[in-house]
Amino acid sequence: MTFSEELRRRRTAAVARGVGSVLGSYVDHAVGATITDVDGRRWLDFASGIAVTNVGHAAPAVVEAVRAQVERFTHTCFMVAPYESYVAVCEELNALTPGGFEKRSLLVNSGAEAVENAIKIARHATGRPAVVAFEHAYHGRTNLTMALTAKNMPYKHRFGPFAGEVHRAPMSYPLRDGGLSGPDAAARVVDLVEKQVGAENVAALLVEPIQGEGGFVVPAGGFLPALREWATAAGVVFVADEIQTGFCRTGDWFACAHEDVVPDLVATAKGIAGGLPLAGVTGRAELMDAAHVGGLGGTYGGNPVACAAALASIGIMRERELDAAARRIWATAWPRLHAVAARDPRVAEVRGRGAMLAVELVRPGTLTPDPAGAAAVSAACHAAGLLTLTCGTYGNVLRLLPPLVITDAELARGLDVLDAAFARTS
Ligand SMILES: *Cc1c(COP(=O)(O)O)cnc(C)c1O
Repeated sequence: MTFSEELRRRRTAAVARGVGSVLGSYVDHAVGATITDVDGRRWLDFASGIAVTNVGHAAPAVVEAVRAQVERFTHTCFMVAPYESYVAVCEELNALTPGGFEKRSLLVNSGAEAVENAIKIARHATGRPAVVAFEHAYHGRTNLTMALTAKNMPYKHRFGPFAGEVHRAPMSYPLRDGGLSGPDAAARVVDLVEKQVGAENVAALLVEPIQGEGGFVVPAGGFLPALREWATAAGVVFVADEIQTGFCRTGDWFACAHEDVVPDLVATAKGIAGGLPLAGVTGRAELMDAAHVGGLGGTYGGNPVACAAALASIGIMRERELDAAARRIWATAWPRLHAVAARDPRVAEVRGRGAMLAVELVRPGTLTPDPAGAAAVSAACHAAGLLTLTCGTYGNVLRLLPPLVITDAELARGLDVLDAAFARTS
């Protein structure tokens, strides 16, 4: 019996069944873009722990910053005895997120908590109750963020009742909405909101600039700018969930920048701290400062070890220009994925930006989703030493999220494996 097999048995006896894992093997260590399991098997990592280790596994500057901070202090609670690194991370977030106006930030532990706090802040600042979220949206697994998330199985099924005042609007999904233009798709949203909710009741419009778990859906050009314009006119807080798209992933520091969209509030997490748990809400000072003292916070939010890791990670992104690195990954991968699409009739679309790339699989000649095809390709990749993920409302999207520090040789090797996996399963 391998060590991983033994751990699978122990896991079944000890870990709640509701927590799933993509890989059946158990990790021993990981460096750069490579994960090694407890039996010495290796995987090239095209998942990055779901867009978290953008700076690579065990980035030396992150390891050193964490080690040094652990020796100084691990926790005092910022609400009890504050420290510089929390302030420094907020300064970085205020400077890096889109918008030249005065900003403030708040640090929490997880993406879901960041989204929850963005909604709290928007409601408090506007005095309005309603939130508009989108089809195919994913915002987390807490009660409010389950309500904001679109997909029932596996995220919501039998976990209700859910928080109220969440309204679902149609997303711009060019492959599946008949190629509706961005402005027309936005008009459809505005019409629904004004008729069914009333703009004056809406605190926040919450949108992922490129949807993550929902299928790496890239809205048609003009969709986000039109919604931004409407939100401004209607006094609605425009909240961008950049939890998966942020920190250089899409070839810019934040995905909103591709269309010069400036959100009022931005939720961040995942890529922020090189693998340590940290998340943030950043936005207009007058919104962020609206809530009373003591109204926001949490025991661990902005933990000093996580803050040290964030400052080191952001330093790496800046020094190594990982936004440009993500664009180079795109330039290499895009033609390779299109070559697969030209050959494999299951591929309906190749989409994404930077190092956030996806292939949507369908039954040939239709738009009927092919989740089995996506699962088969992904399994063939895993068997050949490449860790890939699937996503999508229909589970039929293969997604690629390599670390942004991946070498050209590693990227080429991973794309070769992917190419072969398509060929072998078609
Ligand atoms: C992962 C994710 C979340 C939730 O983040 P957690 O840290 O898992 O709570 C929210 N929104 C988006 C877009 C995500 O990708």
